[in-house]
Amino acid sequence: MALYTNDSKERVRDAVDMIDLVATRTELKRAGANRMTGLCPFHDERTPSFGINPAEKVYYCFGCQASGDAFTFVMETEGVDFKGALELLADRFNVPLELEEEDPRAAETRKRRERLLELLERTATYYVRTLWESREAERAREYLSARGLQEGTLREFRVGYAPSAWDTVMKASMRNGFKAKELYDAGLSQRNERTGRTYDRFRSQIIFPLADPRGRVRGFAGRTLGGESVSG
Ligand code: ZN
Repeated sequence: MALYTNDSKERVRDAVDMIDLVATRTELKRAGANRMTGLCPFHDERTPSFGINPAEKVYYCFGCQASGDAFTFVMETEGVDFKGALELLADRFNVPLELEEEDPRAAETRKRRERLLELLERTATYYVRTLWESREAERAREYLSARGLQEGTLREFRVGYAPSAWDTVMKASMRNGFKAKELYDAGLSQRNERTGRTYDRFRSQIIFPLADPRGRVRGFAGRTLGGESVSG
């Protein structure tokens, strides 16, 4: 697994706005020049015993003794490891991460993974656009709306629609430089063993992207309007 440089970690630490970060979990009030307090996100309480020092970017709770910095805060609240916390913070505070020199094989694997993620991301965007813009998806839009799902919610969860054609996603992706094997590895195409023909895996279906904790699309689940479902 690729490691990030120490310099990257320091730049993330510098860029973090501790108030902004902690405020996503608890409401903070100023309680001194270098202290803000709020209800502890790590234990149940009615009067605040949790506080942060925004300048030093640390937190401490007198109630449960939870303490640490921005990295441990994210690890604890998001349930991720150090690397995950670093990536989340880098993402949130716009710090590019640099990798330690990797051996060529590891670099190859990483690049391959990044391309798959990019392919899934582009495809998710495409499905969303299709749901809202294509005439073909009108029935899907009616179906979702009949189930009480508002456009805002559907957009937030990036619900989409896969058109009925056999190879829309394949063609578009290959035009963008992706290879047939990458589509297959990403779970976007399937092959008919008998004819050897490859085609889009999701067709005429409402599409739900499956995302990881960082919101990156890892795959899709499809649902036909009849109710029959396919996961990927
Ligand atoms: Zn606490």
